[in-house]
Amino acid sequence: MTVTRFAPSPTGSLHAGNIRTALVNWLFARQQQGEFILRIDDTDQARSSDANAFGIDADLTWLGLDYDARYSQSRRFALYDAALARLAAAGRAYRAYETPEQLDLKRRVQAGQGLPPVYDRAALALTEADHAGFAARGVSPHWRFRLDTAAPVAWHDLVRGAAHVDPASLSDPVVRRADGTWLYMLPSVVDDIDMGVTTVVRGEDHVTNSGVQLQMFAALGAAPPALAHLPLLAGTDAALSKRTGSEGVAAWRDAGIEPAAVRAFLARLGTGQPIEPADDAALIAGFDFAAFGRATVRFDPAELAALNAKTVHGLTFAAVADRLPAGMTAAAWEAVRGNLSTVAEAAEWWQVVTGPLAATADAADVAFLADARDRLAVLSWTLGVWTEWTAALKAATGRKGRALFMPLRRALTARDHGPEMAALLPLIGRDAALARLDAARLAAADRALYIDAVPPEVR
Ligand code: GLU
Repeated sequence: MTVTRFAPSPTGSLHAGNIRTALVNWLFARQQQGEFILRIDDTDQARSSDANAFGIDADLTWLGLDYDARYSQSRRFALYDAALARLAAAGRAYRAYETPEQLDLKRRVQAGQGLPPVYDRAALALTEADHAGFAARGVSPHWRFRLDTAAPVAWHDLVRGAAHVDPASLSDPVVRRADGTWLYMLPSVVDDIDMGVTTVVRGEDHVTNSGVQLQMFAALGAAPPALAHLPLLAGTDAALSKRTGSEGVAAWRDAGIEPAAVRAFLARLGTGQPIEPADDAALIAGFDFAAFGRATVRFDPAELAALNAKTVHGLTFAAVADRLPAGMTAAAWEAVRGNLSTVAEAAEWWQVVTGPLAATADAADVAFLADARDRLAVLSWTLGVWTEWTAALKAATGRKGRALFMPLRRALTARDHGPEMAALLPLIGRDAALARLDAARLAAADRALYIDAVPPEVR
């Protein structure tokens, strides 16, 4: 069975880049009818917080990304201890004592000799007596994983194709600090083994880590997972890191972005597939690692907003009813949704339907509005009333196009643009429509009096 995991460090809130990583893990797990795990990578307890971890849960809930299991690394230290002991027994982990200053000095010497800043493994030469000496002085070791530098580590990346990392160019990574705290690298492998993770999907900033971690899987006697490294999103991962606060769920929620629009957008951003409203079934069925390009992708909030508007236009009344103003009907939602950028904007149009409105009209339309009112008053009130009414007015007055429709739209909605009047008029209702036409005619007459009374240069 396919098992994926999303493994954020709770050092801030999620941003578009790691939300996409979560989404891709979820899509693949759902497509394969596998499991999607949330793993909170909180080994760095100084920078992690429960508030951030709960925020990640809340964000995933809002995004509609349900997970099948949830773990926190801070409760799993015993497993990491055991794994380190095994690596040490097998000669793949060793104790070292260099201070940051000593390591820095080594690197400067190497730079002076034109050598890469790779740890020289001096600690491998320490004897048990040396270790005892450090212990007697109260100096604790940090632990390094001993890389096998004989050959490059190669794998078939589900996104990048043939991939490899040369361990000879890397320092043996520190896996545990002298104070006993864990760094990311080994706990992640231990958990991926323990949780049966079959596919690791993450950003391409982890490619080098993957080379190291594949050796850790082997050293712990485990089969490696499949690996997929997604290109980073520009404007999020790099320019706007999660610590400086970039676009994420809070900003999207405030802007009226629908979770379904976020899913449809991030599922296909950077793939050859069209970015258009799509339900989860379509996103899951169409998911394909091979569709992702290799290039960094720009995340443009304006494109997300555009997809959001298209998504809103397709939402059913049932899907939004609990977010609409009290009394707003299915017919009203269907009349206005095509004009909305966000669901919240429906309230403005419902206000236009229910009133009150400030009447606006042109001086030249006094007679037309009077005529329009009288003709509407005698029509039977059907769903086709707008068509019937405007056809009669056109025949009687010779007006057409804008001259015919704009005074009516203004009188009935106090706006120049908006949803189809044929749908709005039945919602406004007969009595309110007649009252608005009366008010508009009076406003037009006032305007005419004013124009007569006040010379153009002082108007
Ligand atoms: N905690 C790591 C991060 O947030 C997880 C990387 C991984 O998926 O293994 O980058």
